[in-house]
Amino acid sequence: MSTSKFEQACADYAEARLAVKKATLRIGAYFDECTRANDDSRVNRKGGQYSHVSQVLEWEVDDHGNESTYTAAERDEVLAECPGCQKAWQAIQARREWRKKFGIAKRRITLFGNQILAAREEPEPEIATCGCGATGEVNYDDGTERRYYCYSALSMCSP
Ligand SMILES: [Zn+2]
Ligand SMILES: [Zn+2]
Repeated sequence: MSTSKFEQACADYAEARLAVKKATLRIGAYFDECTRANDDSRVNRKGGQYSHVSQVLEWEVDDHGNESTYTAAERDEVLAECPGCQKAWQAIQARREWRKKFGIAKRRITLFGNQILAAREEPEPEIATCGCGATGEVNYDDGTERRYYCYSALSMCSP
């Protein structure tokens, strides 16, 4: 079975959507494995359980107001203390990629949708003026002249 670009875009959309959902569930389960999971003395910025991932995502502000984050090496060191957070971190990175793919698929589908809508629009009828001044849709075309005749009693109103 060959797949059209439209079908492919729909499949990409559904696949990415599901992957994001699954990753979110997995991340939640991994956080339950965090060695800090039962320590409710500290919460993260979102008010949730403070984990090793919360720690590496923290911004540190020095006395001069300069912000700094963990370097990759510092981050890996903290995450190495907790297998749950290590897996959660990897799943978060994977989810980020799937979210990107989801966004791209969504934009493609919107683009295709807009193309379909544009193609569906009827072309504007061609309007011309009769000799008497009445206007209407072109109803005469002899190959050189395209015009509108209103077919009233006046001689100028019919060919
Ligand atoms: Zn942890
Ligand atoms: Zn006329």
